[in-house]
Amino acid sequence: MIRYLRTHLGVKLFLSYFVVLFLGFLVLVVTMNYTSVAAFDRQIGTMAEFSGNGAGAGAQGTGRQEGKPQSDAELETRHEFRGRLLEEFQKAFRSSLGISVVAAGIAALLVSFLLSRGITTPIFAMTEASQRLAEGKYDERVAIHTENELGQLAQSFNIMADKLERVEEMRRQLIGDVAHELRTPLTAIKGTMEALEDGVLPASADTYRDVQREAERLSRLVDDLQELSRVEAKAYKLSLVPVPFGTPLQTVEKRFMPLFAAKNVRFELVLPDELPTVSVDEGRLIQIFTNLLNNALYYTPEKGKVVLRVERKVDQLLVSIEDTGIGIPPDELKHVFTRFYRIDKSRSRHAGGSGIGLTITKHLVEAHGGTIWVESEGKDRGSSFKFTLPV
Ligand code: ADP
Repeated sequence: MIRYLRTHLGVKLFLSYFVVLFLGFLVLVVTMNYTSVAAFDRQIGTMAEFSGNGAGAGAQGTGRQEGKPQSDAELETRHEFRGRLLEEFQKAFRSSLGISVVAAGIAALLVSFLLSRGITTPIFAMTEASQRLAEGKYDERVAIHTENELGQLAQSFNIMADKLERVEEMRRQLIGDVAHELRTPLTAIKGTMEALEDGVLPASADTYRDVQREAERLSRLVDDLQELSRVEAKAYKLSLVPVPFGTPLQTVEKRFMPLFAAKNVRFELVLPDELPTVSVDEGRLIQIFTNLLNNALYYTPEKGKVVLRVERKVDQLLVSIEDTGIGIPPDELKHVFTRFYRIDKSRSRHAGGSGIGLTITKHLVEAHGGTIWVESEGKDRGSSFKFTLPV
């Protein structure tokens, strides 16, 4: 019984309400039972005294006092009458008390039931909803009827369910995207191997190079995915140390100058007179530059121009990588940082792009306390990737 009470909040609440209400009423009844007869007796005494005095004043001059008993016999009759009156009063009072006890008991039962149900119903609803959520039904929500603590609990539960649903959706989408990305190079390798086997394709160096290119794409994709999962889970150490901003810029310039020159794209650095020292992870900063410059190099046709501009803005550095390349249509601008998003899928894939580079770049910039965005006038009007870094 005690164990049952301990595990059933509804019964516990019901009993506690009932006991409190019923005890209150019981005290009232017992007190009234013991005090009412004496109070009634006192009241009769007062009334008799009052009627004796009043009658006495009215009978003055007649020589007779009507309120006072005239003989011992009359005194005894009056005493007997008073005793009977009290007895009858007590009987009537007790019978009405009996009815009230039953009525109060029923009322206490009803009130206790309604009050305890008001508390336990939302708790039961949340328990059931959380069980369904645990079974994988992520669209589960609870109705919010009150603004009290239970209402706030229900609201927190719904927020948690929203987040779980979003995470689940992202997980499902990620698995779908990864499967899709892996399938493309695998299908190409499988197709080439089958054609080789059937003698449709010659066993030439070109054919083997095609297979190798697809295998390299697969391996790059796996590397990118690994890097993305590390960056998204923040499972890497960012060692921020004060670095003169010119140092990583020199490394990047040295690495990219020959690449731009080979494609016949002009590459310029526009820097302020004095470059500040910033607190960054140099390796990660170079990774950010590399991702953005690789894209600028790839998406800018021959005879184009790419400018790496650094400006000092109060307590921030604004870095822009501006190109005169293929540009980005306005409705695509907000998507380019989404993982696996590519505007021209076949073109990007041809370059070995997986649509992950900018997602990683965004995470890295934000880990440094900066923000990144892109501006473009539209298709074939060039793009400008900009990010800030706190100084
Ligand atoms: P990818 O590996 O495919 O280049 P990113 O995440 O680096 O993946 O870029 C995502 C997409 O954004 C690219 O597929 C491309 O469509 C677009 N994009 C990125 N940089 C540029 C740029 N400089 N000019 C035009 N489009 C770009």
